[in-house]
Amino acid sequence: MLKIHSLRMEFRERAVVQDFSLEVEEGEIVSIIGPNGSGKSTILKGVSGMLPCVSGQVCIADQHLAQMTAKHVSQVMCMLCQANISPADMTVQELVGYGRSPHKKWYERLDHKDYEIIAWALDKTGMTGYKDRLMASLSGGEAQRAWLAMALAQRPKLLLLDEPTTYLDIGHQLEVLGLVRQLNQELGLTVVMVLHDLNHASTYSDKVCVIQQGTIERYGRPSEVFTEELIRRVYGVETEIDTRTDSEHPRIHVLHKMK
Ligand code: ADP
Ligand code: MG
Repeated sequence: MLKIHSLRMEFRERAVVQDFSLEVEEGEIVSIIGPNGSGKSTILKGVSGMLPCVSGQVCIADQHLAQMTAKHVSQVMCMLCQANISPADMTVQELVGYGRSPHKKWYERLDHKDYEIIAWALDKTGMTGYKDRLMASLSGGEAQRAWLAMALAQRPKLLLLDEPTTYLDIGHQLEVLGLVRQLNQELGLTVVMVLHDLNHASTYSDKVCVIQQGTIERYGRPSEVFTEELIRRVYGVETEIDTRTDSEHPRIHVLHKMK
């Protein structure tokens, strides 16, 4: 579904991402984790075509990103950034309607079929009752669900999410992650997301990609990736890995910062 080969990205000639290769199968949820500034957001921007890559290749559904038009890219993938700025005077339904634009010509208006897809996206995200509300009036969790509805209306195959839970309380964090998993299971949507919480990454992912200083430290199933040694090396933190309840998705108990 997504193949990234030897990606290199730079800011002012300083390599921020280097020799980054990753393969994501259709229908998988992959989480990217790593310390602040390790290049996670930059990688998502490279994959979505928002930032140029110096070298390397990104293939989506066997097509080279470099050869796709922006419109075509938007038809197959959608990226939600860390802080989506909600246009204050826009209703939820209007925002979700923007998800249809990659499928329309500039002079075309939304038609009956588009409104069906918008209604479907609102329903899937539990936002039907909020459709006439202004974006500015929503709580963080509701706004995040509205953005996910907009993403769904785009009918992408691949969803890229940069820290989708960062500004939410723990209850709403789990609600959004549960929704992401539900959409993944029901629609077969492939998801690549950046997460900070190691336990969320362990619980909600098929695979976890750990990056440090712009390159891959480890990639595999949560049970393969999360070891006390890896977390010590990458984060400088002592932990206990607990596989008693779920051996595939271990729990990580944080003990203390290494001295
Ligand atoms: P993460 O998402 O893992 O916290 P980022 O991808 O945002 O990290 O940033 C990786 C590195 O690239 C950091 O060192 C950051 O300072 C640098 N960087 C990010 N965006 C820019 C930019 N627009 N200009 C210059 N440097 C940047
Ligand atoms: Mg980031």
